[in-house]
Amino acid sequence: MRRVSIFGATGSIGQSTIDLIARTPEAYDVVALTGGRNIARLADDAVRLGAKLAVTAHDGLLDDLRAALAGTGIEAAAGESALIEAAARPADWVMSAIVGAAGLRPGLKALEQGGTLALANKESLVTAGPLLMEVARAHGATVLPVDSEHSAIFQALVGEDMSAVERIIITASGGAFRDWPLADLERATVKEASHHPNWAMGQRITIDSASMFNKALEIIETHEFFGIAPERIEVLVHPESLVHALVGFRDGALMAHLGVSDMRHAIGYALNWPAREALPVGRLDLAGIGQLNFRHPDEARYPALRLAREVMARGGLSGAVFNAAKEATLDGFIAGRIGFTGMAGVVEAVLERIGSNEGLIDANMTLDNIRAADHVARSLADEEMRERAA
Ligand code: NAD
Ligand code: MG
Repeated sequence: MRRVSIFGATGSIGQSTIDLIARTPEAYDVVALTGGRNIARLADDAVRLGAKLAVTAHDGLLDDLRAALAGTGIEAAAGESALIEAAARPADWVMSAIVGAAGLRPGLKALEQGGTLALANKESLVTAGPLLMEVARAHGATVLPVDSEHSAIFQALVGEDMSAVERIIITASGGAFRDWPLADLERATVKEASHHPNWAMGQRITIDSASMFNKALEIIETHEFFGIAPERIEVLVHPESLVHALVGFRDGALMAHLGVSDMRHAIGYALNWPAREALPVGRLDLAGIGQLNFRHPDEARYPALRLAREVMARGGLSGAVFNAAKEATLDGFIAGRIGFTGMAGVVEAVLERIGSNEGLIDANMTLDNIRAADHVARSLADEEMRERAA
C-alpha cells in the first residue's frame, strides 16, 4: 500500500487525483486530505477514501469539519499550522494542488519527508524554485511535474540528456479571449474570463489563462524545473490544446507530447511514475481532428509574457514578487476593482517599484524573506489599484 496525501483535495486537480485513486482504493493508504471552504466535499472524500486526517485551511471551519466527521474516527484539523503538520506526516506520494503561494510551505514540508511531491502548484516554483529544488535534493525527495506542459516535457526527456536540448516549446490555448478583437478586451468581465475553451480548471488559473499570466508562470516554471536558460524557452499559441509541449534537440529533432485535454493524464503519469499504467482518459483521433494550428503569441495582447522574461532576467526574489503581485491583482479583478487589461500594468508597476530595492529582491531565498517580498508586493499592488480607481 502506498501512503498518499492530497493538498488542495477539494479543487479541480485534487478531485481529478481522487478520481484516479478511488479506482483502486486497496492500493492506497490515504494519510491526509486538505481543502478550504467546501467542508462537505472534504468530509465525504475523507470518508470514502478512509483518510486518517482531514484539514481545512480555515480556522473558523474546524467545528463544521468536526461535525461532518463525527463518528468516523477521522481526525479533523484547521489552519495553516495544521496544513504544515499534515505535510510532516510521512507519505510516499504527496499531491501539491493548493492554488497560489499558500502551497509553498506545505510543499516544502512534504519534501523534507523525502518522498515524492507531485507538483501542480506552479506558484511555489515561481516563488521559490531554487529553494524548493534544493530542499528536494537535500532530503532525497523527488519532484514530479503535474502541469500538463511540464509533464509533457518531462515525458519527452525520458532517456535524454539535458545537454542535448536546444529549446523547449510550451503551447498555450490562448484562453477565453484568443479570438476577441484587442479593443474589446478592456471590457471583458470576470464571468467571460472564467470560461476556458478547452480545459475545465479552477477559476483562478482559468482567468490566468485568458490573460496569459498562467503561461508567464509556466515559462518561469520551465526555467526553474528543467534548469534551461530563459532564451531557450518558447511559447506557441495552439488553439486545439492537443500538443502540450515540444522539446527541440541539437540534431534538429522535435519531440512532441500529444493527448486529450484531461489533467488525469499528467496526474496519472506522476502517480504511476516511473511506470506507465493504463489511464481512463480519452484517446486522440487525429484524423477526426484533421489539423493542428500554431502561431506566435501577440505580445501586445499578452504583456504577461514579457514580464516573465524580465523576472527571470532580474532573478532573486523577483519571482515571489511577480507571483504575489499577480495574485493580488487577480483578486482585484475578481472583486471588480480593476479591468481585465489593467492587470498587467499593475503587476509591471509593482515589479518596477520593487526592482531597485536590492535589500528585498537580492536577499537570501529564505521563507522569511520570501514572505516579506510577497507581503510588500501585495500591498504595492493594492496601492496601484487604488490609485488607478481614484
Ligand atoms: P482550485 O481552485 O480548483 O482548487 C484549489 C484548492 O486549494 C482547493 O482545495 C482549495 O480549498 C485550496 N486552497 C485555496 N486557497 C488555499 C489556501 N490559502 N490555503 C490552503 N488551501 C487553499 O484550483 P486548481 O485549478 O485545482 O489548481 C490547483 C493548482 O494546480 C494551482 O496551482 C494551479 O495553477 C495548478 N494547475 C491546475 C490545473 C487545472 O487543470 N486545474 C492545471 C495545471 C496546473
Ligand atoms: Mg499548464
